[in-house]
Amino acid sequence: MNNKTDTGFFTFPQWEGIPSLVHGFGKRGWTGACFDKIKEFRNLKRIFLKQIHSNRFHVITKIPRTPPEGDALLTDKPGILLVIKTADCLPVLILDKDNRAVAAVHCGWRGTSQRIIQHVVAGMERCFGSRPENLWVGLGPHIRSTCYEVGAELPVAFEHAGLPLNVFTRLAGKPGKFLLDLKKANFLQLMDTGVKEAHIVFNDICTHCQPDLASFRRDKKKAGRMLNFIGFNKMI
Ligand SMILES: [Zn+2]
Repeated sequence: MNNKTDTGFFTFPQWEGIPSLVHGFGKRGWTGACFDKIKEFRNLKRIFLKQIHSNRFHVITKIPRTPPEGDALLTDKPGILLVIKTADCLPVLILDKDNRAVAAVHCGWRGTSQRIIQHVVAGMERCFGSRPENLWVGLGPHIRSTCYEVGAELPVAFEHAGLPLNVFTRLAGKPGKFLLDLKKANFLQLMDTGVKEAHIVFNDICTHCQPDLASFRRDKKKAGRMLNFIGFNKMI
């Protein structure tokens, strides 16, 4: 993953060079106003969500007046930049080069337990004719499993959803406490949809350990949010 210290966001080198694609995972200092400072971002209309830890997604064809409620955005319209906010949760960007469609997904534990990523892949199939085996998926910076201590209600929720429990590690000496691997949980769900392992890129940066990334666990109300984004510029 490229660390663009000059611009304040990370990108996947594997995705650079794709004509007119814009994508990135903003650091703490990367705010909405920062988009206007970069030429290739200026023509893009940004869409944000009112995120509610659900499995609800919205297919965007034009920018609505108020942010819709949900946790994932999809579009095949050039000129729209999908933006997802995170602070420890896993941001996922999805790319369909053939149909020139994209998605941005907010995967916290609640959304993950409700299979949001699988809903989004199914939505891309239905709305854009995407084929899971042709999708490219990028998993961005998030709280890594070594830092993500959770209570016993989480394995219970995953079990109810029929999801694998091998994403939890029991914490020695702390009864009822587990570590959750959000990346693995979503990776396994993507595998189930038919996305190819070789098409999934990710990074090992932990938001909780890295001071210039937003971590709700570490900083609570002062955490701010990371802006994770993807879209296609209009062909000129
Ligand atoms: Zn950490």
